[in-house]
Amino acid sequence: MTKASVFDVARKEGRKHLLESEAKTVCMEYGIPVTKFKVAKNETEAVRFAEEIDYPVVLKIVSPDIIHKSDVGGVMVGLKTAKDVRSAYKQIMQNVKKHMAKAKIVGMLVQEMAPSATEVIVGAIKDPQFGPAIMFGLGGIFVEVLKDVTFRVAPITEEEAREMITEVKAYPLLKGYRNLPPADIDAIVKILLNASRLVMEHPEVKELDLNPVMVYEKGAKTVDARIILE
Ligand code: ADP
Ligand code: MG
Repeated sequence: MTKASVFDVARKEGRKHLLESEAKTVCMEYGIPVTKFKVAKNETEAVRFAEEIDYPVVLKIVSPDIIHKSDVGGVMVGLKTAKDVRSAYKQIMQNVKKHMAKAKIVGMLVQEMAPSATEVIVGAIKDPQFGPAIMFGLGGIFVEVLKDVTFRVAPITEEEAREMITEVKAYPLLKGYRNLPPADIDAIVKILLNASRLVMEHPEVKELDLNPVMVYEKGAKTVDARIILE
């Protein structure tokens, strides 16, 4: 599916957000790196996709009714064998049934497991007055507890993207700390610029949330992508 058809399908179905697979398709079209993924319809297909993608993999529930997948037990990481995939598939289905019996299930997202690294968040939210603003911060406690994030009105320039990265308090961590290697700042700059382009070209995007993005010494990978529609 192309990004145009992703938005069309969501609109036709009257949905308020894109599925993770759809949001990642849009990201890919904007040059934002994402984990390899495929949507499986059943256990056997999930195993086949896991083998194509290569172990270890992650399984995630795909449902238009579920926005926070791990809240309903809809994410299982670190699956190393076909047996793991089959049991995770069953477990997730069971968890979801328990938490949200009425949720419409589209399938199961099988995706590449990204090695852990420094986690950052790239986002965009639309301000009724100023239009979309781009957000940046480091993942986990830095965003959730310390609110260590920064914003710029879109479209942003490369200079602004670099400023955003250096002005968060946690910036020293990106330069490397103890056993943490330095993170690829240029890769983050590119993601910020591409996220800016994405929201500028798609006014129907109310919110974009790349959370987390794993940043390596070379390159980066978006592990979860959410797009909320107007
Ligand atoms: P949620 O909808 O709950 O935000 P996520 O897709 O973000 O679900 O998954 C929850 C957590 O699982 C992530 O924050 C990340 O720590 C881990 N995770 C998810 N997908 C991957 C992946 N492909 N590789 C590595 N870790 C992952
Ligand atoms: Mg997430």
